Amino acid sequence: MSQPEPLARLIGLLARLPGIGRRSAERIALLLVRDGPGLAGELSLALANLPARVKCCSLCGNVTLAEADPCRLCTDPRRDPHVLCVVEEADDIPLIEKAGVFHGRYHALMGRLSPMRGEGLHNTRIEGLLKRVREGGVQEVILALGTNVESDATAAFIAHELARAGLKVSRLALGIPAGSELAYSDPVTLSRAIQGRQPV
Ligand SMILES: [Zn+2]
Repeated sequence: MSQPEPLARLIGLLARLPGIGRRSAERIALLLVRDGPGLAGELSLALANLPARVKCCSLCGNVTLAEADPCRLCTDPRRDPHVLCVVEEADDIPLIEKAGVFHGRYHALMGRLSPMRGEGLHNTRIEGLLKRVREGGVQEVILALGTNVESDATAAFIAHELARAGLKVSRLALGIPAGSELAYSDPVTLSRAIQGRQPV
């Protein structure tokens, strides 16, 4: 039996979210139908308000209230503006904050270079990073990227570009398992990896 169109449409949308497969999307959609207007109404209100209330910081990419851009990490005068930590995704930033050993500024790439898929700079914020560095003030860049092929290609490209600008560049090495993303590292491992960073 085919599903009513509004339900099928909702399931299709939910299934596009990360980590939610078709079966989970169906269960969520049915829960919303069963619950009546309560949860569905609150959800739709939260979703409708989201773009106006929350955004990604125009400097680092961290999630921030729309009225607080640049975000508090970019404007906190106690943080060192000379050291920049480059991460792949904005949600890597709270992971490094949790490790508690980094007190500089951040730059999230929102992706990585994928030479195998022929994807280049236009898919990342690398150009923004190089621009930030060229504007001056940054003396050291820590590449807190994953350890898979695409992360390696991204790190190599950035290191090459930054070395030309005479910057000190280092990369997390210790304790990050090969072939993995930062999100799978615990705070203790991450803190050791930051302190044990290797020049590149
Ligand atoms: Zn920021």
